Amino acid sequence: METTKIQFSRREILTLGATIAVTTGILGAGKALAGEPAATPNAVGPFKLPELPYPKDALAPHISAETLHYHHDKHHAGYVKKLNELVAGTKYASMPLEEVVTASREGTIFNNAAQHWNHSFYWNCMSPRGGGKPTGDLVNRIRKDFGDVQAFKKQFADAAVGQFGSGWAWLVKKPDGSLAIEKTHDADTPIARGGHPLLTCDVWEHAYYIDYRNERAKYVDGFWQVINWEFVAQNDAKG
Ligand code: FE
Repeated sequence: METTKIQFSRREILTLGATIAVTTGILGAGKALAGEPAATPNAVGPFKLPELPYPKDALAPHISAETLHYHHDKHHAGYVKKLNELVAGTKYASMPLEEVVTASREGTIFNNAAQHWNHSFYWNCMSPRGGGKPTGDLVNRIRKDFGDVQAFKKQFADAAVGQFGSGWAWLVKKPDGSLAIEKTHDADTPIARGGHPLLTCDVWEHAYYIDYRNERAKYVDGFWQVINWEFVAQNDAKG
């Protein structure tokens, strides 16, 4: 299979709205499963649903093709469609996505914009070539702030599993350069407060219910098997 180079610049998200610059040579990425309805089309508007950076079956058995079909083609697409409908004719229609998040602050525009940003980020936090352990400077930084990689994974998993109801677990870089774990409710996102995420795990039930039913902890175990440490390191290097 041709090696896929993910070009995912945080700045590109800021400036290009929803368009993630993902270059992929993998045929079939973003396609519906055989016999399944096609992805929800984008409404006419400035924000676009990014293609998944891997084929839908690439993360199995940890994240199934069926989960990615519903999660990306239905849930994420739904946020984009709704966002485009909501911003039509408003000041938000010409803003980069991150600016919509910070300017709207709350309400339905915020919820749909934040969910669009969060999911676009989340897809890249996983990779068919993921799993394993972080390397390079990232290991040293994790050791410095969490003790060791296992301790970090336990704290992150505790945040993900312990998030009551829908939300997200995050690894963020604080202004002083240290790393920290956060969890947010519903659509809330660290970027709403100027935060700098390095990693996220979606803990809404739609992220895992098909594969794991109510067992969120098993989903988080599977997440570690596909975690894209390279993407985490790239985000860490971006200031
Ligand atoms: Fe989700």
